[in-house]
Amino acid sequence: MHTDIKIVLVNTTHSGNIGGVARAMKNMGLADLVLVGPKSFPSAEASARAAGADDILATATVVDSLQQAIAGCQLVFATSARERHIPWPIMDPREMAAAISVAGKTADNSSVAIVFGREDRGLTNEELHLCQHHVCIPSVANFSSLNIAAAVQVIAYEIRMASVSDITDQAPQWGTSWDAPLAEQHELELMFEHFESTMVKTGFLDPDNPRQFMTRLRRLIMRALPDKIEVNILRGMLTSITKYIASEKK
Ligand code: SAH
Repeated sequence: MHTDIKIVLVNTTHSGNIGGVARAMKNMGLADLVLVGPKSFPSAEASARAAGADDILATATVVDSLQQAIAGCQLVFATSARERHIPWPIMDPREMAAAISVAGKTADNSSVAIVFGREDRGLTNEELHLCQHHVCIPSVANFSSLNIAAAVQVIAYEIRMASVSDITDQAPQWGTSWDAPLAEQHELELMFEHFESTMVKTGFLDPDNPRQFMTRLRRLIMRALPDKIEVNILRGMLTSITKYIASEKK
């Protein structure tokens, strides 16, 4: 049983913060740092703030897109202090840590990503919608935004506490203890594209006026945490619809 937990930082502007994140991670036993388009990396400032967690910086991966960073992950959490117009399934860090702990105990390998946003404007809705859960640190309403390294510290601390004590009874039980592995993020994305193109073909979805159809469908399916077999069933159904349309046209 092995849980791989990635900390993903999107477009971090201040390199000192990257170092602060590395230090927070190392304190709590996390090692896998992924940087999506950092403004400047590597940098002396990051190393200075890492204060001995240079190994985390040395092995950090730099990628161009969030999709690349989370492609193989099965549980993807987006952190944000802000409520959204279309709310996403929300958890606090303790519930998140319990869910990760359950997934780690029941699957041979589980792959988790926790995504953090830009210092000035956080994560976009599109980025949030690539993730299954929105994790919010319950800070006070009128001063809710933590420094990114402080936010990573809180999240990493809860993961550490969950790993040293047994709090799995606090976790949602659906989806994580299961007979088939959870679908990976890129498999979900391919399925959403498949849904979109098929629903355009049937005429259900008007590409010139899609409204929130894909966002709401995405939220519905993400909420269910589909496994690999379920994704294949849904895609098989879509393929059968496309075949049926083609045969009717003959
Ligand atoms: N002004 C930005 C705040 C960004 S703070 C905004 O409007 O979103 C930088 C990052 O730290 C956030 O993107 C998020 O990943 C994390 N963060 C800060 N405060 C948080 C909180 N209360 N809950 C969860 N994540 C938080």
